[in-house]
Amino acid sequence: MQPLLIVGTGLAGYNLAREWRKRDPQRPLIMLSRDAGHSYSKPMLSTGFAKAKTAAGLIMAERTAMAEQLQAEIIQAELRAIDVDARQLTLADGRRLAYGDLVLALGADPFRPPLAGDAADAVLSVNDLEDYARLRERLQGRQRVLILGGGLIGCEFANDLLQGGFQVDLVEPAGRLLPALLPAQASAALEQALRAGGVQLHLQAGQLAVAVHHQEGGLRVEFRDGSSLTAEVVIAAIGLRPRIALAQAAGLACARGIKVDRYLQSSAAQVYALGDCAEVEGLLLPYVLPLMAQARALAQTLSAQRTEVQYPAMPVQVKTSVCPVVVAPVAADRPGRWTCEGQGQDLRLLFHDPQGQLQGFVLLGQAAAQAADKAALQKQLPALLPVS
Ligand SMILES: Cc1cc2nc3c(=O)[nH]c(=O)nc-3n(C[C@H](O)[C@H](O)[C@H](O)COP(=O)(O)OP(=O)(O)OC[C@H]3O[C@@H](n4cnc5c(N)ncnc54)[C@H](O)[C@@H]3O)c2cc1C
Repeated sequence: MQPLLIVGTGLAGYNLAREWRKRDPQRPLIMLSRDAGHSYSKPMLSTGFAKAKTAAGLIMAERTAMAEQLQAEIIQAELRAIDVDARQLTLADGRRLAYGDLVLALGADPFRPPLAGDAADAVLSVNDLEDYARLRERLQGRQRVLILGGGLIGCEFANDLLQGGFQVDLVEPAGRLLPALLPAQASAALEQALRAGGVQLHLQAGQLAVAVHHQEGGLRVEFRDGSSLTAEVVIAAIGLRPRIALAQAAGLACARGIKVDRYLQSSAAQVYALGDCAEVEGLLLPYVLPLMAQARALAQTLSAQRTEVQYPAMPVQVKTSVCPVVVAPVAADRPGRWTCEGQGQDLRLLFHDPQGQLQGFVLLGQAAAQAADKAALQKQLPALLPVS
């Protein structure tokens, strides 16, 4: 029996392996990862300082324990090439692996800004356990952190490092926090909460970092408008790019992510993709709930019960404890209107389309803690990917 081969041991790879193993205890399973292959929950990376967790402390199960639990061979090696005709992978060490079905759960790379300067390489990004360990090491005995980017990850790290006792500056060139997720009024409330907590926000539109230099006692980041900020540690949190290069080289159809249909099948037979690297019918949703829905559906398909993935509405939680946020985002060009209730940072914003249908919402502060309200709103939202 040819094995199921899953590349990637992040939440997507391991969730799929678990779901599938429940249905198929017999077929050989090979997993491949270029990292250590430990099981951990990536969202915990941005609450680690508040919870005083080391990288090792975030590991839920080591690779050997996962191998035993899943009855899998878990190989620590880098995938270099996919031959979809021969159904064979080539690894960086030259080994070849044959597969029956192949699942790509390759994740996404943090976007690296094009920076000049002799310290451009010192800018960190945090997207896995190793990055997190490096960040903790760099912060030893240091105080001042500068975060480039005020999206979900930048805001969560600002909040977390604040809780960890660091002095935090954050720069967002779009002019406000979480610009892709929140309407302006909600951004303003979050900004107020983070400022009150002690984060120095720099929200001048167009303030793009162009260079990073070493200087006495730390780093100096230069911006396009000629201004500069200094810090001891600089973190870039300016977005992720799905890892599509290997799939592209193998001839698989790719857009922003590896293109898959509702069965998570790519343009090649017996090759599937899920998680941050996958674009399902045009939707790229780099969050945990979508990948869990994908894993459940694909596990069934791989056990001879073809099953489409379905996405109900899936609000995103932003783990900014100074002002928690739950958001069901609305595309900026969608016709409709926001209404807002509440005051200060405790806001409930609803977006209705011209037909009166709820299309999105934002709950902030205490409103975000009202689980029953959140559930009721969620139920009213249309599914993101309804039954076809
Ligand atoms: C700091 C942070 C906080 C987050 N918080 C939240 C949150 O609160 N809620 C939420 O829903 N989402 C959150 N997310 C997003 C969520 O964590 C991701 O969507 C999810 O973890 C992605 O899982 P994945 O398995 O697709 O990718 P990854 O976890 O990146 O796994 C990719 C795997 O592929 C392997 N790999 C890649 N290339 C190769 C290769 N060439 N050869 C071999 N192996 C390879 C890697 O080693 C790794 O094992 C957060 C993300 C970050 C970074």
